[in-house]
Amino acid sequence: MTKQLVLAGGGHAHMMALAHLNEFVEKGYQVTVIQPSPYHYYSGMGPGMLGNMYSPEEIRFSTRHVVDKHGGTFILGKVVKVDPDACIIHLESGETVPYDTISFNIGSYVPESIITDNSENIFPVKPIERLAEARKKILQLSADNVVKVCVIGGGPSAVEIAGNVWGLTNKSNIHPADIKIFSRSTIMAGFPQRVRARAIQSLVSRNIEILEQSNVSTIQHGIIELESCQTFPADIIFVAVGVQPSPVFKESGLAVGPDGGLMVNKYLQSTDYPNIFGGGDCIHFKEKPLDKVGVYAVRENPIILHNIMASLDGTELMEFKPGGDYLLIFNLGDGTGIFRKKCFLFGGRPAFLLKDYIDRKFMKKFQALEH
Ligand SMILES: Cc1cc2nc3c(=O)[nH]c(=O)nc-3n(C[C@H](O)[C@H](O)[C@H](O)COP(=O)(O)OP(=O)(O)OC[C@H]3O[C@@H](n4cnc5c(N)ncnc54)[C@H](O)[C@@H]3O)c2cc1C
Repeated sequence: MTKQLVLAGGGHAHMMALAHLNEFVEKGYQVTVIQPSPYHYYSGMGPGMLGNMYSPEEIRFSTRHVVDKHGGTFILGKVVKVDPDACIIHLESGETVPYDTISFNIGSYVPESIITDNSENIFPVKPIERLAEARKKILQLSADNVVKVCVIGGGPSAVEIAGNVWGLTNKSNIHPADIKIFSRSTIMAGFPQRVRARAIQSLVSRNIEILEQSNVSTIQHGIIELESCQTFPADIIFVAVGVQPSPVFKESGLAVGPDGGLMVNKYLQSTDYPNIFGGGDCIHFKEKPLDKVGVYAVRENPIILHNIMASLDGTELMEFKPGGDYLLIFNLGDGTGIFRKKCFLFGGRPAFLLKDYIDRKFMKKFQALEH
């Protein structure tokens, strides 16, 4: 009987598997890709899309089109549960999909426990596609009024989002937004002092207010309330409080790491079930916990491609080596950036131009599969 390969999510770690999808089909394997959107959005360019530097089309990969074109089956849907003994996954729609080998790249989500309101003006920073909606809304409101934008979180996403809202509204025909960042501890706490200082200087010089040691307890009816009981009105709220792996694995009873990510060994293979693989933000790499950055998802690509093919063919698996320190460049939203690798640091326009070049090159490489 024909063997079935399922790719759950077409995220950053599945890009090479998607690029080589025809090789699976040529070998007689059936490939099914499941994703809640026909497109996968590249997070590294998400804040830039919010700031109007990129259009949604420039930062997305047409997963559905590529799967159809290369002989796979695309299902628009969301995986909610795995039955690893029966080798079946359950979708939100109630549909079930069988597999011989499956790989998960279903990403992470922003915990929403502080949101006690279902207002449409609240935007968790994931999924990235919602940032396009936020951009539209801010532009609409800024035509007549100064929009109060509050960003909750103190990491790089919060800094990039605040900086890019500034970039979006600092135009001649609209009102510049009043932007506040609420950080539970110090801003960019996990970064060296020189990186923090550059980020703070850039934001403060543009009148973006940074409220440190400001733990938000609730968001309700457009009001942000801190643990100290201080309240702040907001028109638009971004929630950038960090991410957690998809809850699918924990709910399916699979072995998971402390944060709920699918526990995988050095082959990016579930420690419980040899026909389950995974990459990106949704896994917990048993050998060494990895930061939730796209860099690792990208590095995992060739291993996932090799190992899912090997699993179907019955050949040897390849080990994933996470590699050393990685490069990070932050987009500050005013045409400048901060570049950091190990102790090497620089900022300004060149840092942004380098990020723009790397990001566009990455997107062009995979968007080429669409033609
Ligand atoms: C604002 C922001 C900016 C960032 N900038 C950078 C950066 O510049 N550099 C960097 O290295 N990292 C960056 N990161 C971190 C980076 O986003 C993540 O590490 C990266 O997205 C992980 O890739 P992924 O493929 O695992 O997940 P994702 O990019 O989230 O992709 C997951 C995919 O799975 C799909 N999916 C989700 N749930 C399901 C489901 N249940 N069933 C099926 N499919 C599903 C989604 O639609 C999506 O296509 C940023 C994060 C944010 C929030």
